Amino acid sequence: MQNVEKFYADNAQTKTDKAGLNSTICWFCDKTIAEDESAEIYLHKFRGVSMGLTGNTYEYLVLSRRIPCCRICSRTHENTRQWSRRLMILGGIAGFIVGLILPFVIVLNLEVPPDKEFGTIVLLTILGGTVCGAILGYLLGHKIAFAPGTKPETYARQHPLIEPLMGEGWKIGKPE
Ligand SMILES: [Zn+2]
Repeated sequence: MQNVEKFYADNAQTKTDKAGLNSTICWFCDKTIAEDESAEIYLHKFRGVSMGLTGNTYEYLVLSRRIPCCRICSRTHENTRQWSRRLMILGGIAGFIVGLILPFVIVLNLEVPPDKEFGTIVLLTILGGTVCGAILGYLLGHKIAFAPGTKPETYARQHPLIEPLMGEGWKIGKPE
C-alpha cells in the first residue's frame, strides 16, 4: 500500500455546473428524475510525490461534481461496484488455488519428476491464476449488476461537466 494524501480542489459549482444540475433527465438512462436525484462523481489528478521517513506519499487533487442521475441508475452503479469488488477477490482466490494445484496435477499425471524450474513454474501459474481470476471476477461483477437501459458509471466521462475536466487531466474516481 502506498501513502496517499488528498488535497481537495475548489468545489464551487460554476455556471456550467448549474446548467447541468438543472437538467431533470437522468444522464445514464434518459428518464425524467426528481430534483434531488443526482450522482456525485469524484475526480482526481496527480499532484506530485513527497518523500518522507515512512515512504513516499503520493499527492492527489480531488474534486467532485454532481450530475443528474436517477435512483435506479445510482443503485445499479453501487451494486456494480460491490459485485465487482467481491467477485474480484473471490476470482483472485480461486485463481490462486488453481494456479497452486494445477502444476502438481500436471506433473503427477505426466509422471515426470519435477525439475529445478518447477518452483518458478508454480509461482508463475499462481500469479497468472490470481490475475486472471481477479479480472474475470471483476468483469462478471459488472455483468451481474447490469440493469438494462442504464449506462455504466464511466459514461459520466462524456457529461458536459466532466468532459472538460478529463481534457485537463482529471481522472474519474477517488485516488486509492
Ligand atoms: Zn437513470
